[in-house]
Amino acid sequence: MKIKEIKVKSIIVKSNLPEGDFVINPYIGCQHGCKYCYARFMKRFTGHIEPWGEFVDIKINAPDLIPKDTNKYKDKSITIGSVTDPYQPIERQYKLTRKILERLIPLQPHLGLMTKSDLVVRDIDLFKQFKDCIVALSLSILDDKIRKELEPLSSSPNKRINALKEVHKNKIPTALFISPIFPEITDWKKIINKTKSFVDEYWFENLNLYPSIKREIYRFLKKNKPELIEKYKNIYSKNSNYWDIEERNIKEFCKKNKINCRIYFHHN
Ligand code: SF4
Repeated sequence: MKIKEIKVKSIIVKSNLPEGDFVINPYIGCQHGCKYCYARFMKRFTGHIEPWGEFVDIKINAPDLIPKDTNKYKDKSITIGSVTDPYQPIERQYKLTRKILERLIPLQPHLGLMTKSDLVVRDIDLFKQFKDCIVALSLSILDDKIRKELEPLSSSPNKRINALKEVHKNKIPTALFISPIFPEITDWKKIINKTKSFVDEYWFENLNLYPSIKREIYRFLKKNKPELIEKYKNIYSKNSNYWDIEERNIKEFCKKNKINCRIYFHHN
């Protein structure tokens, strides 16, 4: 793992998420190393040649770049972690996300966080100091053996579920991002049924088999789920309406069970 401390010029940047005003990414790269991670495009912009998951740049001066006194972000949303995980393992040592949160408290933005790590519970004391805050954990695989193949250094499904429980227990709004949905692997109904008593909203995203990850995913299937290869080829063929049907099923299920849900991304 190549770890490097770097200095950056800015840290709060305009968001390109479907909703949201600004994002903060305390790191470049992500030790979780998810095989499907769309953020690997960051390699192109940062000149990294290491495989995704094997480098992290620490934006060491990030907390100092957050203004001390401004109303600029008061009614705006700031999401922490759009192309990195703010609670990846190195955060234990650097506490960069924690320091950023401390600096954001006086600015009182609508705060959102996205992670695959149970380290997030460390900062509950800080989340409580935001008037508007939502903590989202992302989870789409319940089988820990499969999780290790696809998201090597992330927290186990149970740890993530327990983290959500803990955040909710502390009266902080929670979201569960079921992303990406792997056909025939992600049992989203089971995930909802296991977590609905401590999750306020569910967000969904289907697996996007864009060219740079396609090979990784088929390699994973060949090793772990060879029986699904043909099925995936059909689903990702031009005339398939698999995801339209799946989206309809999700919406119907959530409506019937009074589950607050949002299709965050629908990739065709
Ligand atoms: S945790 Fe998120 S940012 Fe990190 S590798 Fe996985 S998908 Fe990418």
